[in-house]
Amino acid sequence: MSAFYKGAYMGKLLRVNLTDRTSSVEAIPEEWFKKLLGGRGLAAKYYYNEIGPEVDPFDAENKLIMMSGPLTGLTLPAATKFQFSTKAPETGHYLCSNSSGRIGTQLKKNGYDGMIIEGKADDWIYIKITADGVEFCDARDMAGENTDKVLEKLYKAVGSNRAGALAIGPAAEKLVRVSYVCVDTRAFGRGGGGAVFGSKKLKGVVVYGTGEIPAADPEKLKEIQKGTLPVLRETRGNHTKYGTAQYIQPINELGCMPTRNFQTTHFEGGDKVDHNFFYENYKISNYACDKCPVACGSVGEVKEGPYKGSKARTEYENIGLLGPNCGVDDFAAIIAANELCDKIGLDTMSGANLVALSMELFERGLITTDDTEGIEARFGSGEALLGMLRLIAERRGIGELLAEGMKGVEKARPEWKPYIVHVKGMSPAAYDPRGFYGHALTIGTSSRGACHNVGGWTIRDELQSGKYDRFALDGKGELVHTIQNNRAYIDSLGICTVVRGSMDFRANPHGETMFAATGYDFEPELMEIGNRIYNLERVILNREGIDRKDDILPDRFLKEVVPSGPIKGQQLTEEMYNRILDDYYSSRGWGKNGIVPDTAIDKCGLKDLTA
Ligand code: SF4
Repeated sequence: MSAFYKGAYMGKLLRVNLTDRTSSVEAIPEEWFKKLLGGRGLAAKYYYNEIGPEVDPFDAENKLIMMSGPLTGLTLPAATKFQFSTKAPETGHYLCSNSSGRIGTQLKKNGYDGMIIEGKADDWIYIKITADGVEFCDARDMAGENTDKVLEKLYKAVGSNRAGALAIGPAAEKLVRVSYVCVDTRAFGRGGGGAVFGSKKLKGVVVYGTGEIPAADPEKLKEIQKGTLPVLRETRGNHTKYGTAQYIQPINELGCMPTRNFQTTHFEGGDKVDHNFFYENYKISNYACDKCPVACGSVGEVKEGPYKGSKARTEYENIGLLGPNCGVDDFAAIIAANELCDKIGLDTMSGANLVALSMELFERGLITTDDTEGIEARFGSGEALLGMLRLIAERRGIGELLAEGMKGVEKARPEWKPYIVHVKGMSPAAYDPRGFYGHALTIGTSSRGACHNVGGWTIRDELQSGKYDRFALDGKGELVHTIQNNRAYIDSLGICTVVRGSMDFRANPHGETMFAATGYDFEPELMEIGNRIYNLERVILNREGIDRKDDILPDRFLKEVVPSGPIKGQQLTEEMYNRILDDYYSSRGWGKNGIVPDTAIDKCGLKDLTA
């Protein structure tokens, strides 16, 4: 090992081949850590090298790339994040996905920064990774089982519920393109990564390690960790009390809540689905990702009525999309639908948006009860919400088509395009872009489709910084570009974005924490590295045929005026959107066609990495 590996990095990658049931260990070039940090940056680099544009998501040549960051597993708050990359069944393109859970920490305790799983098994298996090595285990008895049951069996297989585990549900086995990967108590939710596991007949992975994760200066890290606690208590109290559900009320009042398949932006039943209503009637406990003092997770339980006994980990996005976007104001039904998705392995967000689409089609008479196996798929019906989610997960009736995702539906039924809401195949999170023009650019230019996380969450800046009017066009290109770079390096470090401020990992970071962790001075480079990672992702997307045409928002957002609510009459026209898109490309140094030119590749230090 060179002097670079004083701490935090293990320097090794575990490669597992499902076809011939072998594994090997290889060194990760030191230069890649220096230039791309780890996590999302390194996963993108392996994707660039190993998954070509010709590979279909369900080919044996598609791979499951998983990388921790340098801070993953260290004694720091919320240093629990882990990154996943694959070719996404939902979009057909590059996917990056970020999750908490113990898997990254446990892999590092076994001496690996990450792993790549490739090939295809001939029957259902799970992988067990411990100090004894890699074992390929029979999982035929797990086939058809829900994620919670699979997780239990995986923890049992290594004799510890402190192990890290990945599991898929029945929806992923049926290759539903919006199925997720369960990661302990969290998820790789978007993009349909679960279906890639399903295509490889991989039901789960469990990792348990006993080694130490080194740090260059453990005493300094402890001091930094101690200093973050009062900051988090002061700034993240509402996260602890209400979780992300706290955003439902303000977003609805601002007129930005997707309602009835994004047809309008204010939900009249908002006070029945907000954080206060949840807190008073359903919240039973908090839950936290590993070592996180914020514990922003909220568990809700239904105590009476038809959904009695349902229990789920509710989040803003799940509530907004299963609730208002399906017209449902019954919180008990939202919890039941959330629980159903978690267990059968369906991404709550994309699953909810597909149900919302089906409800609009039903109400317009474009599908009938003949297509829905008798379900009256009307907005507002909790029963229909749960029934349609089951149809999608089981590929029954119209669910067979919906299970192909928005892109698949649009390809099969182009005449439904006005009602199909997606960018690059991924449907949006619970913010209507007609209410925040920076957010419009975010979902248009996100590296994985209509995603507010990867694309850069601009909403706080657009509302609270005093620097931007949410309906202004000027400055939005630079804003989105900066936030995207910030998020790209945060996702590469291995910490949660919610706590980043407590360690000064903002747009002008100081590198004290990174120096204490690794012994290498990244300080002046973190934002540059974020920029490099975002450009690398765009180079991959360009190689897969993505350019300006794919950054354009769906008709619903650019051709329809908001018909009701606080921003009634608001319209983001195609001309306005094209203006901010030009502004964004120019601030990134990309061509007007959305392609990264050689000059930009050179400038951000990607030339060697993409040679
Ligand atoms: S802030 Fe929330 S999401 Fe982030 S690590 Fe803590 S519990 Fe997990």
